[in-house]
Parts: sequence; structure tokens; C-alpha cells
Amino acid sequence: MADDTNSELAPPFSALGLSEHTLRALTDSGYERPTPIQAQAIPLALKGRDLMGLAQTGTGKTAAFTIPIIERLTGGPRRTRALILTPTRELCVQVEESVRTYAKHAELDVISVYGGVPYEPQETALRNGVDVVVATPGRLIDHLEKQNVVFDDLEVLVLDEADRMLDMGFAPQLNRIVAQIPIYRQTLLFSATMPPEVEALARKYLRKPVVVQVGRRSSAATTVTHAVYPVPQDRKHTLLAHLIREGNLDTVLVFTRTKYGADRVVRHLRDEGIEATAMHSDRSQKERTAAIEDFKAGKIRVLVATDIAQRGLDINGITHVINYDVPTQAEDYVHRIGRTGRAATSGDAYTFMATDEIGMVRTIEHVIGQKIPRISIPGYDFGTLG
Ligand code: AMP
Repeated sequence: MADDTNSELAPPFSALGLSEHTLRALTDSGYERPTPIQAQAIPLALKGRDLMGLAQTGTGKTAAFTIPIIERLTGGPRRTRALILTPTRELCVQVEESVRTYAKHAELDVISVYGGVPYEPQETALRNGVDVVVATPGRLIDHLEKQNVVFDDLEVLVLDEADRMLDMGFAPQLNRIVAQIPIYRQTLLFSATMPPEVEALARKYLRKPVVVQVGRRSSAATTVTHAVYPVPQDRKHTLLAHLIREGNLDTVLVFTRTKYGADRVVRHLRDEGIEATAMHSDRSQKERTAAIEDFKAGKIRVLVATDIAQRGLDINGITHVINYDVPTQAEDYVHRIGRTGRAATSGDAYTFMATDEIGMVRTIEHVIGQKIPRISIPGYDFGTLG
């Protein structure tokens, strides 16, 4: 588990008073006990309370809001009664998969609605009626305008990764969507961070929310081993190839600051005979899906991504996250590291630090409250180069 603040085992799922079909779905998934965020959030959400969950990806937050929705909706009328909003298409698809997993023995329909794919199948599915809609804000607005879906009977609204939705400029879209949802509803807001903008959003949309939180504010996932490699900018690509080869790195997610940088790193790795692929917003949805599939299937070892593209990626078993460029925002460091060290796994996070990035690394260390060890590789460390 990515959080060790609750080292004592939580009571099993069967103690939460869940229905038999949900317990069976959880058993099928091999889950016995709730994670800390689930143990806190599920009982409150089942009571109908509004919730503000401060939790990163990897904590089990998706099931924390999905399970109460399934419990509430099972056996009810076939109308759209729950809406889950996510910032990215990738997260949208993953949340839809989670709903399917946990609702597999319940009679519930779910659909994901996001941009970059044909409009018509979504339109048909929405018009046929569906219990749970998982959507990115932009595409959902298109459907609302065409009245493909109405939210008159909506009971539960989830804002997943609210901080990132605001970062991506979705505030106006959120307003337009929420305006179409009944005031008497349950609202669950999840966010990895709680800047004032998110608090303001919560004040606007939530009613007397309970705050549930796992881990420390801004604490990076605790199963991750961090390291900083001092290296001149123009030697980063050779260091990357060296580490992947020598360290026998398995499943590597590399972050660059720009799309152009991501493409360049992929070219360098391929020149070195290492299979790699890029993941950023210039690539089509088809290319992105193919890249994730190949990565999950182990066909490619290295995925090179920009921050926008990585958010919410649910890929189990990432062994290494490499910050090819030091993130300019300390929060991005925490998000990136959240990709590894996910439930029940551990991983390493390497950061390549050029001389002009020393200050940014210090800021990150300050925010995460820990000093990251420096690893010096002879021939690469600028401190040892003449
Ligand atoms: P999330 O934070 O929702 O992205 O979930 C992180 C990972 O934890 C996912 O791969 C889930 O399949 C897994 N997971 C969720 N709940 C549990 C649980 N109670 N026990 C073990 N693994 C879980």
C-alpha cells in the first residue's frame, strides 16, 4: 500500500456492511481489507455525507468513491444517477474500468465519455440510459448541449483529481455542468492537493463536507526510494540509457518538461537499442492507448511522458520513475512519484539534476520534507567532470 500511516490492519471489507455482490466483486479482485482512505471514506459516503478526500493516485481512492455509488444505486431505477468527472481521458477510462470491476455482480450500466474519439457511440449509449457516467468536462458539455443526457435524477457527483481539473482550466466547464445537477445531491471531491482554489470549489459545491485525508499534506508515496543524479544537461540522455541498461530497469516511466523533449528522449533511446515510446497531447487517442497497452503488456520498457499525459495513469508495476527534467512545481514531483510505489508495490524515483536545476531540487526537498540522497556516477556527475 502506498500509505503507511495506518500500519494497523483495517477491519475487512465485510465489516463495512456492504452488499453481498460488492463483497464478491472485491474478493474476485483479491482485496480483503480497505486501504486507509477507503476505511475512512466508505462509511461516511454510505451515510450520504459530502466528502472532501485528500488522497493521491495509488491510495485506492477510486474504490473509495466507486463502492458507495454502487451500494446506493443497486436496485434503483434505470436513470443517470451518478456522474464522475475526471481531468483526463486516461483517468476517465480507468475509473470506468473500476466501476465495472466493483459493479460486476450488480445490475448497473456505466459509460465513459471523453474527447478524441467518435461522438456517436457515446450519444447512443447516453440516450439509451445509463446509471453511471464517467466523463471529462469538455465532451460532457457537448452532450449536455445536445440533450443526450439530462441530470434531473442525478444523486451523486464525484469530482476526481479536482486540483488537476482546475490546473487544466476546467473551472468554467465544471460550473456549467454542476448548474444542471439537482442541489439535493451527494458530492464527493477528491484531490491530491488542497490549494485555496480547490477549497473554494469545495465551498461552492459541497454541503457540510467531512474531510478525509491519508498521509501528510504533500507527502510523497512512502514506499518509493528517491535519488538525485547530478548530471550536465547534455549528458542526460546517455545517463538514462546507461541506467536502464546497467540497472536492468524493468518498467520505466520517464518525465520530460516538453513534448519536444519527450520525442527527443525516445529517439535517443531507440538509437541506443532501447524500445521506448512517447506519451503526450500531440499524439492521438489511438496512439496513446496503444502506447499504454504496449507498456502494460511489457512490449516496451520505457514510456516517456509529459506531466499532463501522465496524470492518473493507472499502470501497476512501474518499477522506476525518472525525472529527466526536474519538475518546476514541487507538487508535480509528488504526482509523478505517485506513479510508482502504488498499492502493494515499491519503486524507485530518480531525478536528473543539471546545474541550473539545483535550486528546484532544494525546493522539492523542502516541500516533501526530506533530503533526497545524491548518487554520483563517475563520468556523468558534473561535480566530478573536469
Ligand atoms: P487508486 O488510488 O484508486 O488509483 O488505486 C490504486 C491501486 O490500488 C489500484 O491498482 C487498485 O486496483 C488497488 N486497490 C484499490 N483498493 C485496494 C484494496 N482495498 N486492496 C488492495 N489493492 C487495492
